[in-house]
Amino acid sequence: MSIAENLDAIRAQINGRAKLIAVSKFHSAQEVLEALNAGQSVFGENRVQEACEKFTLVKEKTSLPIELHLIGHLQTNKIKKALSIADWIDSIDSLKLIELLEAQCAKTQKTLNILLEQRLAEETKTGFETLGELEEVATLFEKNTFPHLRLCGLMTMAPNTSDEAKIAKAFKTLRDNFTKIKSEHNLPNFSELSMGMSGDYKIALREGSTQVRIGTAIFGERTAAKEGL
Ligand SMILES: *Cc1c(COP(=O)(O)O)cnc(C)c1O
Repeated sequence: MSIAENLDAIRAQINGRAKLIAVSKFHSAQEVLEALNAGQSVFGENRVQEACEKFTLVKEKTSLPIELHLIGHLQTNKIKKALSIADWIDSIDSLKLIELLEAQCAKTQKTLNILLEQRLAEETKTGFETLGELEEVATLFEKNTFPHLRLCGLMTMAPNTSDEAKIAKAFKTLRDNFTKIKSEHNLPNFSELSMGMSGDYKIALREGSTQVRIGTAIFGERTAAKEGL
């Protein structure tokens, strides 16, 4: 199946319920262009260097609008570079990172959309651990501590398992935390639940996802040969 056919099949499954983020990590600028030409405008990458090189190339070849999400752990020494390319950072995992992003966005007068990542799987290394930690951050946003950042919602990765009940439970936990934060804090942009990947996005949609992040089911397997550009 071609990238365009894969996109059609996934769009049919999503059926307007969520935004589709095409995760193009390890895939080429050419493949991104193929997806763009098939009407896909939102992309996700997890490494800053790879994203910069690839999307610089892509933007030289097309003037189609692109929205780029960073979805992997962001090292603080990559912030400037990340901000030069990303419209969203979906994988915010510390208050320190938020403070540094705010400082850099203030310098460049940029407004950045962010999601807080919660760690709900053993094998995931990063993310806020508890609802309490998420609420602390929400409280700071409510006080307008970070005027150049828009707190748009939460993100998670489900455990890597074939046990659908376990996966659904993780997604439900994120949704419950989202609902609680939204009801208890005055956060006008807090509306997104980023959950679901190629293997579990149908479960995520049932659990209320508003943004699914799909790589393999669009672009095929990521192989070592495809690493880099
Ligand atoms: C790679 C990645 C995805 C996409 O995974 P697929 O299984 O290829 O769909 C989604 N989210 C994050 C955070 C990722 O790193």
